[in-house]
Amino acid sequence: MSPTLARDAAAGFSRHLGLERKLGRELSGEVRFDAFTRGRYAADASIYQIMPAGVVFPNDLADLEAVLRIAREEGVSVIARGAGTSQNGQPIGAGLVVDFSRSLNAITSYDPEERVVTVEPGIVLERLNARLKRDGLFFPVEPSTATRCTIGGMTGNNSCGTRSIRYGIMRDNVLAIDAILADGTEARFGEVGHNRGLPLPALSPQAGRGDPANPSAACAPSTGRWACSCGRWPTCSRTAPTACARPARMRCSTPTTSAPRSPT
Ligand SMILES: Cc1cc2nc3c(=O)[nH]c(=O)nc-3n(C[C@H](O)[C@H](O)[C@H](O)COP(=O)(O)OP(=O)(O)OC[C@H]3O[C@@H](n4cnc5c(N)ncnc54)[C@H](O)[C@@H]3O)c2cc1C
Repeated sequence: MSPTLARDAAAGFSRHLGLERKLGRELSGEVRFDAFTRGRYAADASIYQIMPAGVVFPNDLADLEAVLRIAREEGVSVIARGAGTSQNGQPIGAGLVVDFSRSLNAITSYDPEERVVTVEPGIVLERLNARLKRDGLFFPVEPSTATRCTIGGMTGNNSCGTRSIRYGIMRDNVLAIDAILADGTEARFGEVGHNRGLPLPALSPQAGRGDPANPSAACAPSTGRWACSCGRWPTCSRTAPTACARPARMRCSTPTTSAPRSPT
């Protein structure tokens, strides 16, 4: 720890005593304001270091709501954190760090037929893929930090990976986000017109409905749509275009009814 950080750590302890006590009273999850914990969360994979006021580990949605309310009351900013593997200081700051990776990391619903999975933001990509693999599926955005990075952090960074040229980046693969805004309002960010994500691609062409490399394959049989962004085909059609100029950019969207449900 640098001398500046050590000084900040000592000063922060007395400055945020009220905040710590309030959080400790209301949260079922752990609240840590000790210098060691704050020091660990003062860094990500970047060159930057900023000592946070404290760190909380919410257990559930109620904890999360309480964190945001108390932070508002105390005038402290909130910094969401997954695995902290960002390289530009995204998950660090002087406010209250909220670590989603410890407890908010479940798969809340999963439909292998529709290839839609709903997860809590702290789930590590590799763990999600271990589950999907049993059905011959995988989540196609794969940053090099796949064994550590979380879906929440990947979404925050709009991450990409080695397969992104074929399958797109996070914004192409996230169907909806259920969020709590800073003022406590609950919001769903979801479909806007045809701006839909890709379904989870199959590991093998045999398993692959909607595989762009296999345009004759049926797409979501009853209600799915093919859409092709090469400009030569209508934006949306029930049958797969057979002569797309840029088949890799062809997209298959799942029906509205298959949009992931709220975890609550
Ligand atoms: C060696 C190395 C290789 C890398 N390779 C790649 C790569 O190939 N592709 C790539 O895209 N990136 C790469 N990265 C960067 C990083 O690993 C990824 O962007 C990763 O997806 C970040 O995930 P995380 O869980 O660590 O997020 P964090 O670093 O913890 O957070 C990232 C952002 O998301 C926000 N956030 C986290 N959780 C939530 C939440 N629940 N709600 C709202 N906001 C939230 C944070 O506040 C922050 O702004 C690499 C980094 C390293 C060190």
